[in-house]
Formats: sequence, C-alpha cells, structure tokens
Amino acid sequence: MIQTASKAFFSTVAGSSSLKTLASRYGMRGPRSFARRFIAGETIDEAIAAARIIEASGLQQTLDLLGESVATMAEADAATRAYLEVLEKIAVSGVGRNVSLKLTQLGLTIDRATCVDNLRRILDVAQRHEFFVRIDMENSPFTQMTLDVFETMWQQGYRNVGVVLQSCLSRSVADAKRMNELGARVRIVKGAYKEPRAVAYQEKAQVDAAFLVITKLLLAGGTYPAIATHDPAMIAAARAFAKQHGIAHDRFEFQMLYGIRRDLQAALSSEGYNVRVYIPFGREWFPYFMRRLGERPANIGFVMRGILSER
Ligand SMILES: Cc1cc2nc3c(=O)[nH]c(=O)nc-3n(C[C@H](O)[C@H](O)[C@H](O)COP(=O)(O)OP(=O)(O)OC[C@H]3O[C@@H](n4cnc5c(N)ncnc54)[C@H](O)[C@@H]3O)c2cc1C
Repeated sequence: MIQTASKAFFSTVAGSSSLKTLASRYGMRGPRSFARRFIAGETIDEAIAAARIIEASGLQQTLDLLGESVATMAEADAATRAYLEVLEKIAVSGVGRNVSLKLTQLGLTIDRATCVDNLRRILDVAQRHEFFVRIDMENSPFTQMTLDVFETMWQQGYRNVGVVLQSCLSRSVADAKRMNELGARVRIVKGAYKEPRAVAYQEKAQVDAAFLVITKLLLAGGTYPAIATHDPAMIAAARAFAKQHGIAHDRFEFQMLYGIRRDLQAALSSEGYNVRVYIPFGREWFPYFMRRLGERPANIGFVMRGILSER
C-alpha cells in the first residue's frame, strides 16, 4: 500500500519541470553527485566507461540512452539518430552489444508508423553489428501498442529484438504464453509505474505471485528469459525452479539495475549465473531517477545528503 502511494507521488513529481531543472543542475554535476548512484553519466563515453567496469567484474550489461515521451516528429528523429550513434560507438568500443530503448522515445505517442520506421532503422544497424535490442515496457496505455510494434518487427523477420512484460498487469500471463509461442525473448519485471485497478494488481503479494507464475512459464517454455528483479525471494524461487527442472544456468539470465543490490549481482555471478546490469545514461534522467526513488523512499535519504553536501 505504501509502495503504491509512493509510486503515485513520485510519478507526479516526475512531471514537474521546475524540479527537473533544479535536479538537473545538481544531480550530475560532479563525479559524486547524487544521481550518479543510479545513472552512469550524461554521455555515451561515461556509459561505456561504466560498462567496462561492470564487465571487468564478470557481469554483462545493457545500455539505455534515457528518454521517453517525445512530443514532436523532429524529437523522435533526433532520438533515433542519437541511438544510431550510440550503436556505432558501442561497436567501436568493444563492450557488449546490448541496448534497451523506449518506443515513446521513438515517437509512439505521435505517429505509430513513424515509430515503427525509427525502430526499423535502429534494428537494421543493430543487426549489422550483432546487437540485441530490448524494447522496455512503459505504462499501461502503451502495453498493447508496444507488443503490436514488437510483433510487427518479429513478423518482418527481426530476431535481434525482445520485449518486457510486467507482472503487475493482469494480462501479462497471457502475453507471456504468446511470447513463448513466438519464441521471443522476454524480460519479466514487476512494473515501475502506478497503474489503475482496472488493469493492474494493487497489492505487492499479488504482483509477486504473478511474477513467479510468469517466471516459471518463461523458464519452462521461453527463449532465454531475463528475470529482472532485486527481490531475493523472486530470485530464490527462480533458482529453485530451474534446478528442479534441470534448466541449465546458460538458458536464462538475471538482470538488475545499475547501482542497486550490487552485492546480489556479484553473489549470483560468482555462483555461475548470467547477470546483466541495466546501465542508464543521458541527459533525460529525471523521470527514470524519480521512478527509482518511488520504489524505495529510503533512497531519498542519500539524495538529500548528496544535495546538502554539494551546496
Ligand atoms: C534490468 C531491469 C529492467 C527493467 N525494465 C523495466 C521496464 O522495461 N518497465 C518497467 O515497468 N519496469 C522495469 N524495471 C523496473 C521493475 O519493474 C521494478 O520497478 C524494479 O525492478 C523494482 O522491483 P523489484 O523486482 O526489484 O522488487 P521490489 O519488491 O520492488 O524490491 C525488492 C528489493 O530490491 C531492492 N530495491 C528495489 N528497488 C530499489 C531501488 N529503487 N533502490 C534501492 N533498492 C531497491 C530493495 O532491497 C527491495 O527490498 C526494470 C528492472 C530491472 C531490474
């Protein structure tokens, strides 16, 4: 219940442009500024530097150029070109070739056909350089559209692309079965957005129970699923299920966010599991940052300490 209220509060704050301006002034200013706990930096070079450190410790990574809900075609085009540049830089750098992106960043809210074209431009370059591209899942008004765009690309033969399903949505069990049928790669998450009762479970216990149902479906019948959570109970259940059904460590991966539960990331990796860290970077970090605060209000403590120590 507290978590639901906290998500609602922080999603409102995330829309505040004056707070965004204020936070942007301080959050990334120095090497120890408060937003750097969760965001690798504002530039691709900083993100690649973070990826190298992650990989040196035996983990894998996916890089996410932050941005969402662009308002014009020109912005969607600029975001697409920025992604193409990011792919080229990653390819040259030698770090792992895996990125995550959001469709509203590519114009989904403005014109779906343009968004599909933009995504295709990215997938073509990604294919040439052997990248895997994960389409992040946004809030529920975009669920169906996102899955439709994904299936369009899938039917056109793209296989270097995968989706995300959120266990908070009651539809996701059926979506997981559909993705298993296709043979598509799914990342399962609990869901970062405040969602209405009509489409989403409101109690943490329900979201957790659905997470386990979907995780088991994906482990048993999916294609290299990504189990993306920091919750030790979810991780323990996934491990037990895999062991019980003889599912080898290389048939799935765990994923966690940059800066969160680094101890757990290292422990799983040292036990031989594949662990991928989601590394966000870019100038548009404020909404992502607010979602992380909403998940764990205790994070506000270190943010406040960070702000005060910088003044
Ligand atoms: C790799 C990855 C990709 C994701 N992609 C998407 C996506 O595309 N769409 C989407 O809606 N959501 C996405 N999420 C976010 C996800 O939906 C959850 O909001 C988030 O992971 C928190 O849920 P949890 O599973 O960790 O469990 P929770 O029950 O929320 O947390 C379990 C424990 O994890 C730790 N923890 C969790 N969050 C934080 C935090 N912010 N700061 C510090 N500690 C924390 C705490 O110890 C907490 O007790 C992604 C998450 C990951 C790991």
